[in-house]
Amino acid sequence: MGAPSPPVTRYAPSPTGPLHLGHVAHMLYVWGLARRFGARILLRIEDHDSGRCRPEYEAGAVEDLDWLGFHYDNVLHHPSPYRQSDSAAAYYEALEKLSRAGLVYRCDCSRKRIAETAPLGPGGERRYSGFCRDRQVPADRPHGLRVRLEPGEERFVDGFLGPQSQDPESQCGDLLIRDRAEDWTYQFAVVVDDLRHGVDLIVRGEDLLPSTGRQIRLARLLGRPDPPRFFHHPLIVDERGMKLSKKTAAGPLADERKRGRSPQEILGEAAFRVGLAPTAAPLELDAALALVELSRADAR
Ligand SMILES: [Zn+2]
Repeated sequence: MGAPSPPVTRYAPSPTGPLHLGHVAHMLYVWGLARRFGARILLRIEDHDSGRCRPEYEAGAVEDLDWLGFHYDNVLHHPSPYRQSDSAAAYYEALEKLSRAGLVYRCDCSRKRIAETAPLGPGGERRYSGFCRDRQVPADRPHGLRVRLEPGEERFVDGFLGPQSQDPESQCGDLLIRDRAEDWTYQFAVVVDDLRHGVDLIVRGEDLLPSTGRQIRLARLLGRPDPPRFFHHPLIVDERGMKLSKKTAAGPLADERKRGRSPQEILGEAAFRVGLAPTAAPLELDAALALVELSRADAR
């Protein structure tokens, strides 16, 4: 008997824009919790959205990680199983598995039709009604693919937020796994990737909490009986309480670097603004990660 293998986590940016301070806060949680649990860290490029992703943003993310001192345990080749745009075979294989179980159907609903037929639910989400479940939408018409979900709760214990319960069927209805532009959806690609990469420690922003149950369900349908361990962390917000983003004037890290700011200044500011540190004083990476190791996770 060998020693048990260490947990595996991932940092998975979408190359749709340059990284900013909000991403640094997320990195602190990923690397801090990885250190706490002795986990391996994979860098995964989530470029499933072919219309919005750019290779230069992937290169920029790698450069930013390097500059800040965040190391990871895999290497990104071309092509790579850690890049979604290189991984179509894995998604087709998962699709096959769901199809063989009779769970997949074609849906040609436009966003407009769904907006007109589905009321906004709690959390501002529209629940798909199942309109195309039995319509046998012809394959030669532009269509997306959905997975049938049965009603029922998915329960998990979040490492920061405690016990959670979600019913994906009542939240979003049958789950879209590929859209009409033939792009795999975020939810599907992420679940397939976490399964095939052996990821069992998932660190995400709190804004993503409502979609965790559907990822657990989808993984269950693909053959993962027990959910991975989840930690949902706070986000950096602006003065109006909005998540930091390009739209809320978060400057690219590359610009901060050109302005002569040091990695320690950026780490200190990220730790302060996400509530880990009492001041924005510069921090060495080790010290910043120690703040996460000692954060609320210890209470559970
Ligand atoms: Zn439909």
